[in-house]
Amino acid sequence: MARYIGPKCRLCRREGVKLFLKGARCETAKCAISRRDYPPGMHTWRRGKVSDYGVQLREKQKVKRFYGVLEKQFQRYFKRAARARANTGELLMITLERRLDNALCRLGFAASRGEARQFIVHGHITINGKKVDIPSYLISAGESIGVCRHEKSRRLIQTRLDAAGGREPPAWLGRNDKALEGKIVALPSRDDVSLQVHEQLIVELCSK
Ligand code: SF4
Repeated sequence: MARYIGPKCRLCRREGVKLFLKGARCETAKCAISRRDYPPGMHTWRRGKVSDYGVQLREKQKVKRFYGVLEKQFQRYFKRAARARANTGELLMITLERRLDNALCRLGFAASRGEARQFIVHGHITINGKKVDIPSYLISAGESIGVCRHEKSRRLIQTRLDAAGGREPPAWLGRNDKALEGKIVALPSRDDVSLQVHEQLIVELCSK
């Protein structure tokens, strides 16, 4: 699968917001957004006014980069949301929030969504006791996210949880620190999405 392997901080600087792609570093003064809060590349001051299309595109790219989703998969999510009888933009954001890699990161079991993806692909994570190695797996209410019983896996997740310093998960997730287990209390709502985004701009762009 194609994936972006360039500098992660460049993506944040391009979007002008913190996308939290590097785990603990994102919370420190070393964050590139704090130090160089302007777009990457040369002659950025020469760039003129951004068109409506440009604004819509930036909004879409911001969401894709935050959740670590590539264009093809993002289009699949959009088509699925557009088919449903609900607010397309809201449903799109809720669907992305339901991804297993995102839930793992929000539980504090991984420092970033990228790291969460790696943990899942390497077989450290279970859903209802069964190993799941698909980062895009969409979690449902009532399911429980666990850590595989191997000592190495449990130690790995425990270190991330310790590093998170007791940061509480959002209300739609429950966490049992001792058992290293997460519970999907309810499906997330639009208000649970932590990224500041105008999803209507994405809907306008993708509906063209
Ligand atoms: Fe983005 Fe984190 Fe880099 Fe800051 S440190 S620019 S939030 S990836």
